[in-house]
Amino acid sequence: MGDFSQSITKNEEQARNLFRLLKKNKEMFSTVVIRNVKRFLCSFCDYSSPLSANVKRHVLQHTGERPFHCSYCSKGFIEKKNLITHMLRHTGERPFSCSLCGKGFTQKRSWTTHMLRHCSAESPQV
Ligand SMILES: [Zn+2]
Ligand SMILES: [Zn+2]
Ligand SMILES: [Zn+2]
Repeated sequence: MGDFSQSITKNEEQARNLFRLLKKNKEMFSTVVIRNVKRFLCSFCDYSSPLSANVKRHVLQHTGERPFHCSYCSKGFIEKKNLITHMLRHTGERPFSCSLCGKGFTQKRSWTTHMLRHCSAESPQV
């Protein structure tokens, strides 16, 4: 396994060269197999990934396509998780609630920030 990283770099090079040929195709992405390692290549730029899902999602940035649509305002999103966060604004649902004061949050990040504020507030001032 000593020269593992070296061989990866070489594969990367070969993938790029092959990719330039495949780029002429009108497909959104192409596949190439190098030493039994399958890679998916973006047809618009040099991006490549061993996961087809990554490339499919990446290609959307070029096409401007947004496969996930809000059923309330029909706003489109590239990623499903972004749509879910957006939908919460319409439903008013707040899945993250503070166990100390009951305040609700749509995003875990803001909930964490809030909880940390409680922790620091526990010091003398209250
Ligand atoms: Zn690309
Ligand atoms: Zn919406
Ligand atoms: Zn709270």
